[in-house]
Amino acid sequence: MTCEELYQLLHDYVGGALVVESRTTVEVHINGCDHCGVLVHSYSHTVRVARALPKCGLPPAFEARLRAVIEPELKGDKPAG
Ligand SMILES: [Zn+2]
Repeated sequence: MTCEELYQLLHDYVGGALVVESRTTVEVHINGCDHCGVLVHSYSHTVRVARALPKCGLPPAFEARLRAVIEPELKGDKPAG
C-alpha cells in the first residue's frame, strides 16, 4: 500500500467502515510509516472530538482548517471526480 492509497481509505478506516482485510493492510502501513501513523492518529482524534461535540458534523471553519491540513497531502494523486 502507498501513502496515497492510505489517504483514500483514511476516512473509512477511522470510521470503522473497512473490512478486516483492508484494516489490516492500513495497520501494516501505519506501523511501517511514521508519517501516516501520525496522520491517522491526529485524524482519528479529530473525528472523536468532532463526534463528542453537541452538534452533528464539523463547524465549517473547523472543517476548512482540517482540509487545509489534509489536502496538501492529497495533491498530485487526486482520484477522478
Ligand atoms: Zn505512509
